[in-house]
Formats: sequence, C-alpha cells, structure tokens
Amino acid sequence: MRTLRTVGQIRAALAEPRRMGRVIGLVPTMGAFHDGHLSLMGKAREECDVVVVSLFVNPAQFSEPDDLTAYPRDEGRDAAMAAEAGVDYLFAPSAEDVYPPGFATTVSIASLTDALEGAHRGAAHFDGVTTVVTKLLNMVAPDVAYFGQKDAQQAVVIRRLVRDLDMAVRIELCPTIREPDGLAMSSRNARLSAEDRARATALHRSLLAVRENIANGERDPAAARARALAELSSVAIEPDYLELVSPETMAPVQQLDGDVLAVVAARLGATRLIDNELIHLNGRP
Ligand code: AMP
Repeated sequence: MRTLRTVGQIRAALAEPRRMGRVIGLVPTMGAFHDGHLSLMGKAREECDVVVVSLFVNPAQFSEPDDLTAYPRDEGRDAAMAAEAGVDYLFAPSAEDVYPPGFATTVSIASLTDALEGAHRGAAHFDGVTTVVTKLLNMVAPDVAYFGQKDAQQAVVIRRLVRDLDMAVRIELCPTIREPDGLAMSSRNARLSAEDRARATALHRSLLAVRENIANGERDPAAARARALAELSSVAIEPDYLELVSPETMAPVQQLDGDVLAVVAARLGATRLIDNELIHLNGRP
C-alpha cells in the first residue's frame, strides 16, 4: 500500500489503471479506523480492482472546535490496518492541499440537511461534508464510493449530491457494524468514560424498542417512540433527538405505513453519538 499526499500524486497513480478500464473504489474516512471502516474497505476490495481510502479529518464539518481538537488521530495505526485490509492507496492530503489559500466554494444541499444532524450541528456541518465529498470525488474520480449506514442522514445527503450534480459515481451503502453489546462502532467511542460507555448501549436498545413496538402492531409514531424514550431516560440520557423518519427524505413520518428509519442522537459527557435502525413494516428484519 502506498500513502499519497497530494492531488497530483493520486491522479498520477490512478491514470494508468483508469486508462486500462480498471474499476476504482473510494472509501472516504476521517481515520481512527475500526471494524466499521474495515467493512467498507473489505466491500471495496471485493468489488473493485483498485481501492483508495482517503483519510482527512475535515475541519469544515466540525461545528465545535473542541470536537475537532479531540478527534482521535493515528495515521501509523490506520495505515497498517488499511494495508492489512488490502487497500492499494491511502490518500491523506493536508488541510492546506484540500483548502488552499483563497478557497471560496461551498457545495450546499437544501432542505435534506435542515433537520436532525443539521439542526443540532448547524448548517455548516453538512456544507462541510458535501463540499469535501465533492472534492474527494473530483480528486479520485472513483467508479464506486462506499459509505456507512451508521451516518444515515449523511448517506441520504450524498446520494442527493451525486444525483443533483450528475456525478458519474455509484454510491454503495454498507451496514452498521456494532460492538457485541450493540453499540454502533465509532471513532468517538474511545472518548467515552467507562460509565458513559455502559450507558451508551441504551441508544441501540432504544432503537430496538421502536422496532419491537412496531412489530407488535403499534402504528402511532408517538407511541412507538415512548418506550424508546423510556429506555434512554432509564440511564439518564436526554437525546438530542429520537425520531421516526422517512429513509428517503429524513422527514418525520406522521403515520407508520411504509419502511421507517428510527434515528437517535445523544450527548454522553463531551461525546455525541448517533445511531439508526431501518424498520420494515412487513416484518422483515
Ligand atoms: P468517519 O471516519 O467516521 O467519517 O467514517 C467513514 C465512513 O465509515 C463513513 O461512511 C461512515 O458512515 C462509515 N462508518 C462509520 N462507523 C461505521 C460503522 N459502525 N459501521 C459501518 N460504517 C461506519
């Protein structure tokens, strides 16, 4: 595996395989790899001839300076894990390369980004995501790009970005990888105190409670939420949100009559965690 730092280097490395018609896959990440990242890399390795993993902690998408400073960084460990996963290129540009002096463009998506994460992290968060993903897709020009269902709203936003801007890339969504106790893997989990790590398991339990309520025939979204909220309050978690939304638009559903996405976000100590579960009304798991 080679680590490349500049747009010129990654373009040069991919020129020949592209000319030969090889399928290029990109896994955009912010590093601090865990099994969630590795599952994306594994899928890319299975499906593509050339696998590029980008590693860039994007300052533009952090609304809180402390969150950016505290974000875990260990490029040496990440490089070893990516190499082990069969990645061909680790593309780790500097902030100066991604945002050179005079950088003045923002890619912004309306409406889809207003609620949930957009409402709680501020409009700049998704603008930061869509701008950097646009740049990474332009830099690497992959045939396929891999994202995790763990960041459900981000996935919906990126699908819309690619569709609205006619980008010639296929977006692949990969399932959420969890710890044995159900907590969705996240680079931020390492920052939880032992006590908060134990409380954090309530997030997934709350989503499973929604699923169970619906499986038991509940069709009123407010009622389906009630037990889930109780699951959270039993460990003194007051969520930023716990909503039942449309998986396509992320808008709250008024009635349960199709597939629904249960989404939750909560702050535990200084760490903010998110999770979601897709619930099929016809009883499929
Ligand atoms: P991040 O480095 O947190 O920006 O994540 C990079 C990619 O990995 C994103 O597409 C995430 O949605 C995905 N990802 C993060 N955590 C998980 C997980 N637990 N399971 C599956 N994918 C994940």
